[in-house]
Amino acid sequence: MEHQSAVAYGNHYGNGYLGHSLSSDEIGMSFDYIIIHESGHEWFGNSITSRDIADMWIHEGFTCYTESVYVECLYGYEKGQNYINGLKQNIANDHPIIGFYGVGFEGSGDMYPKGALMLNTIRSIINDDAKWWKLLLDYSNKFRHQIIDTETVVAFFNKESGLNLTPVFNQYLRYPAIPVLEIKREKGSIQYRWKADAADFNMPVDVEINKKQVRLQPTTTWKFTETRGIKDFKVLQQKFLIDVMEVE
Ligand SMILES: [Zn+2]
Repeated sequence: MEHQSAVAYGNHYGNGYLGHSLSSDEIGMSFDYIIIHESGHEWFGNSITSRDIADMWIHEGFTCYTESVYVECLYGYEKGQNYINGLKQNIANDHPIIGFYGVGFEGSGDMYPKGALMLNTIRSIINDDAKWWKLLLDYSNKFRHQIIDTETVVAFFNKESGLNLTPVFNQYLRYPAIPVLEIKREKGSIQYRWKADAADFNMPVDVEINKKQVRLQPTTTWKFTETRGIKDFKVLQQKFLIDVMEVE
């Protein structure tokens, strides 16, 4: 566990976490989870600390994300994606990740896996790895040894990415549900839109249309794919934490 000046360790020096893996992907059993997770807290938790425990995702979401960065550094992008997507099994979508301010009330335990997968989603939205890694490094340097809150994180990510990510952060942090991509098949075309709670929710999503990768820009109103005669349509769900629902 993270503490200023020291990290506490308790995993009997075994791989995984107390004999099992938090990820459904087998790679989770190839390293000592607690060594990696708690090391991540030196940056996210100890160096950058949340002002209120309601914003504890600032520790746990980022630190959980560092686990997948570790896997990616050792084994490459695909394995990192498999690891982080294997954490989905732990997401409850029961309560918002942000708790209640001023009363010592932390939010849902989803702050770990869902927080990490939200960051992975934002990486896919930005769609430029050089920019993404620089943003994370700049974030950890800019707020080094500081106490911050959710608004500070969101403002920094908006400024550095040049995007308005506020509705994305709001959906994942302030509502229990994740965005649902609704799709309708009609005469060889696909209609699509987001169903979400956050005001003005929108974000891109990558799909495969007839085996070719295409980036769609759904909003909460229906749009059509430019391609007609679609035989094959697949949403690349490893890159975005979303549900996909076919509607009539
Ligand atoms: Zn932790």
